Amino acid sequence: MDGKKYQELTEMRERNVPRGPYNITPLFAESAKGAVIRDVEGREYIDFAGGIGVQNLGHGQASVVQAIREQAELLVHTCFHVVMYESYIALAERLNTLAPGSFQKKTFFVNSGAEAAENAVKIARTFTKRHGIVSFENAYHGRTYMAMSLTSQVMPYKLGFGPFCPEVFRIPFAYCYRCPFGMEYPGCDIRCADSLKRLFVTQAGPESIAAVIVEPVQGEGGFIVPPPEFLQRLKRVCESEGIVFIADEVQTGMGRTGKRFASEHFSVEPDILLTGKSLGGGVPLAGITGKAEIMDAPHAGGLGGTFSGNPIACRAGLAVLDLLDETMLAKSVSLGKRVREGFQELQNRFEIIGDVRGLGPMVGMELVKSRKTKEPAVDETSRLVRRCCEKGLIILSCGVHHNVIRTLIPFAITDDQLQKGFDTLGETLMEFAD
Ligand code: PMP
Repeated sequence: MDGKKYQELTEMRERNVPRGPYNITPLFAESAKGAVIRDVEGREYIDFAGGIGVQNLGHGQASVVQAIREQAELLVHTCFHVVMYESYIALAERLNTLAPGSFQKKTFFVNSGAEAAENAVKIARTFTKRHGIVSFENAYHGRTYMAMSLTSQVMPYKLGFGPFCPEVFRIPFAYCYRCPFGMEYPGCDIRCADSLKRLFVTQAGPESIAAVIVEPVQGEGGFIVPPPEFLQRLKRVCESEGIVFIADEVQTGMGRTGKRFASEHFSVEPDILLTGKSLGGGVPLAGITGKAEIMDAPHAGGLGGTFSGNPIACRAGLAVLDLLDETMLAKSVSLGKRVREGFQELQNRFEIIGDVRGLGPMVGMELVKSRKTKEPAVDETSRLVRRCCEKGLIILSCGVHHNVIRTLIPFAITDDQLQKGFDTLGETLMEFAD
């Protein structure tokens, strides 16, 4: 590249790229390492976003970069459907071994989380010979038409893009801070989990439902952690009705919650498990891993794609899984503790923080105008993101109400960087208190 700076790049961007693909920050990156991004002006930013959960291990991991480089020298692309290569199959084997469940599994690869969701639906439909798909309020599964139909949040993901795919049914998620039934856990006896059975009576019989797709911890929807029994109950209903249980671990997978897959926290063995984001260490890659007999339901030639499971992506994926060992998971758990403590300390100081929640280092805080009314502090949330960026911290918001600050911090972050990040958050929250 020829070293253009902000002013020129911003003007070029506006002239040449539509506004639809939005930018959370106005920054232009030059390089990144660990949990720090350097921009084209030479300024350094602490990264609490990891490219939206893609850099769980950290930017520029030497062995991942080396794998990418080595593979680029050897072979960039043949298309798996034309000439196969070992890395694809080796990565499939690794995921089959690592995904929860002692049953025989099979895996195939696509380029994005949205595509993974699409393909899981295709597989579940051919396997069950049923059409209906159940997803959840606050869910996010991507931006292609089926994935968007499964997604719940209207703005910005769905506005103006309808009509959506038919045969998608939506039920409430266990969003305890804003319980859809106005109840409290555990007294509620997880009433929301009964919504699936209710749907069978009020909307579509179980014999017409192919799959339930769920994020074990909702990501874009607001970092919502359900009570442990929620997923187990859903899974039991699926088992008794012959419905395929799909766990979308695109955001929660690859150590993000302190375990390789969030399903492990809930002792749930999904029939199909979706991976993406950090799987390729930054190279586009997503996986669909599932019970062998379910995965084999579509006919030969029914699944695939030109770039799907590209050799560079698969080599990067193998390098990522090599790194994601017990030591790395312990690092994730320890980061999770520190991040939660950091947020809780802020919550003790600032009224605006209504709720702190998360699993492992997938932690978020929900900002409210009043802890009593829980009115979402939407403007404050976007101002916080903007002001933090101005002060050198990249952090993301999420949530159906646009009022949750979330962390997808690379595990490679140093104590100093983490402290600096939380200091910046504290200073910025102080601006609102004034
Ligand atoms: N599923 C989940 C749970 C996600 O968080 C995302 C991305 N935020 C997707 C699917 C879509 O992934 P992609 O952007 O790679 O299509």
